[in-house]
Amino acid sequence: MSDSERFVVGGSQSVDVPSTVLTGQAWVDHLGSGVAPSRLRLLRVQLAPGSRTVWHSHQYGQILHVIDGIALTQERGGPVSRHSAGDTIVCAPGVWHWHGSAPDQFMTHIAVHEVQDDGADATWGDHVTDEEYLA
Ligand code: MN
Repeated sequence: MSDSERFVVGGSQSVDVPSTVLTGQAWVDHLGSGVAPSRLRLLRVQLAPGSRTVWHSHQYGQILHVIDGIALTQERGGPVSRHSAGDTIVCAPGVWHWHGSAPDQFMTHIAVHEVQDDGADATWGDHVTDEEYLA
């Protein structure tokens, strides 16, 4: 395996996150993928103010690391919590949750997770309502 297959060199292309999995606007950079049988994925995600993912779960969990702005997260049945740059958030396997920016500023986080058995990054559910987001 050559270095070019093992390393992503320089910036990757920022891709719009589709509205089926997001309220608002976000961009994702695919920074790296593990070599099979690893299914690790390393992403950088930037969300515009007031944006949030739909409710979703990750079969093998997820780790988020906030690098800019304020991240809002909520697990099903729990309160909305705020996280600052430098904070790391662990999402347990199979636990339904969402993550988003605060209403008034951009937020960027690193996301690390393993692709699910079905090949998807997550199992996606309903949009997060304004009432849920602003709670
Ligand atoms: Mn997630």
